Amino acid sequence: ERGAPGCRYQFRVAALGDAAVGKTALLRRFVAGAAGSLEPGPERAAPTAGLECYGRALRLPAGPRVKLQLWDTAGQERFRCITRSFYRNLVGVLLVFDVTNRKSFEHIPDWHQEVLATQGPHRAIFLLLGHKSDLESARCVSAQEAEALAASLGMAFMETSAVNNCNVDLAFQTLATAIQQAL
Ligand code: GDP
Ligand code: MG
Repeated sequence: ERGAPGCRYQFRVAALGDAAVGKTALLRRFVAGAAGSLEPGPERAAPTAGLECYGRALRLPAGPRVKLQLWDTAGQERFRCITRSFYRNLVGVLLVFDVTNRKSFEHIPDWHQEVLATQGPHRAIFLLLGHKSDLESARCVSAQEAEALAASLGMAFMETSAVNNCNVDLAFQTLATAIQQAL
C-alpha cells in the first residue's frame, strides 16, 4: 500500500467480531497507549454510520517502521452489512471474541469465512483474540479451546484486555510482523 511519512509500509487492518466484544476499546487502547483514554474524543462524540479509521505507526522487532491503518466497524457488525470490497482490501484481521461471551466465540468461524470469501490470491493474515481477559471470574471460553480453534483455522491466538492494557501492543505487533513476513 501507499507509504506513510517515515514508514516503509502501510497495512490496512480491521478488528472484526460480534458487537460489544470490545473492538473499539481495543483499537483505542492501542492508538492512545497505556495512559490514554478509552473514551472517544470530541470528534468521535457523534458516531458515524460508516467505518471509523485510526492510525498508528510502530517499529517491528528487527524490522522496518510500519503504519497500521486501523478500521473499526461502527455498529454495522450488528447487521452483518459490511461490504465485500471492505473485506477484500484488508491485509490483516484481528478476529475478536469476548472470553465472557460464548456466542461471540462460536461466531468466529463465520467472521473468518466472510473475509475469506472475498479474498483473491493474496490472503489476509488473521489473529484470534480472546478479549476482556481481565474478567477472569466471568470467563466462559477457556484459553485451551480458543487455542484449538485458532490452530484449526491456521492462525495464532492470544488474550487481550483494553482495561488492563494487557497484550494490546503485542497483538498488533504480532499481526504486523506476520503481515510483513508474508509480503
Ligand atoms: P465493540 O462493539 O466490539 O466495538 O465493543 P466496545 O469497544 O464498544 O466495548 C463494548 C463494552 O465492553 C464496553 O462497555 C467496553 O467498556 C467494554 N470493554 C471493552 N474492552 C474491555 C476489556 O478489555 N475489559 C472489560 N472488562 N471490558 C471491556
Ligand atoms: Mg465498536
